[in-house]
Amino acid sequence: MPRSVKFMGYRITCAKCLTICLGLTFLAGCYLAILPIQSEKLTLPKHVRYEITSKIQEKHRLAIIVPFRDRFEELLHFVPHMFKFLNRQNVPFHIFVIQQADVNRFNRASLINVGFLYTKKDYDYIVMHDVDLLPLNDNLKYEYPAFGPLHISSPETHPKYHYSTFIGGILIVKREHFEMVKGMSNNYWGWGLEDDEFYVRLKDAELTVRRPENITTGTENTFKHIHDKTYRRRDMRNCYNQRDVTRRRDRVTGLHDINYSIHSVHRLTIDDLPLTVVNVELKCNKTMTPWCRCPEPQSKPAAKKTKT
Ligand code: UDP
Ligand code: MN
Repeated sequence: MPRSVKFMGYRITCAKCLTICLGLTFLAGCYLAILPIQSEKLTLPKHVRYEITSKIQEKHRLAIIVPFRDRFEELLHFVPHMFKFLNRQNVPFHIFVIQQADVNRFNRASLINVGFLYTKKDYDYIVMHDVDLLPLNDNLKYEYPAFGPLHISSPETHPKYHYSTFIGGILIVKREHFEMVKGMSNNYWGWGLEDDEFYVRLKDAELTVRRPENITTGTENTFKHIHDKTYRRRDMRNCYNQRDVTRRRDRVTGLHDINYSIHSVHRLTIDDLPLTVVNVELKCNKTMTPWCRCPEPQSKPAAKKTKT
């Protein structure tokens, strides 16, 4: 006699019991299969989630071009800060640190030109961004500048520079406009004036620079400027005919004649956040711009020691 068990008040055989169990398992399986996929809590790191979102959006892509040499401490602040700041705005971006790897004086504008050429295939707008200037106000939108360059660090809010034609610090330009003005001048070795020359290029091309709207913060609290003037000395030397030439508009040099070579490209992460470092050697035409290296000041001959 087959063994029997009691199931929900009915006496059934073990064979029947097995069939019922299998049936129930099958039905439960079917039910789970037709349930909509549960939105599992994403456990991916923030930047990966962000990159996925960016791909889905398929909109404008921003290359953050950081002219760079010897500012590693600032970079450690800059990268995490920019990810937090721009992820709140849902802006697809990538950071390119364009590092000058040669013995010439620092040339911010040429590095920006190199950064532009390096990124222009995949990115349709750039922001030239000082590594030591961190935006604090969420109303500073790093948006696609369809109608004209967008100067984020306006003279009303920049911690240090307040003249009306100032466009240094952080400036957003779309690819077509940067090309239209032939990029920036390559003549500016050492600190200063390259941004002012670029302002004249934009003006001559009848491109009006816009500034962010609805900003109620001021020079103290719109940006953090991590710049100690003693620790990070600005190279304000002028040698040869540098002063005369760099005070004038440069109608010759730009994107088309920049002389450089890229020595290496590195993909790094800082706090798990990705960035690209491009090591660039800028080549100087010493006949055209001898001030790419200033002569060392003559040290005074040591006074003769006399026996007393
Ligand atoms: N910079 C650099 N190394 C230098 C000089 C300048 O990396 O030796 C870069 C850096 O991104 C910096 C920007 O150029 O933020 C502008 O230079 P700086 O901060 O000296 O100019 P400021 O606007 O403070 O007068
Ligand atoms: Mn600075």
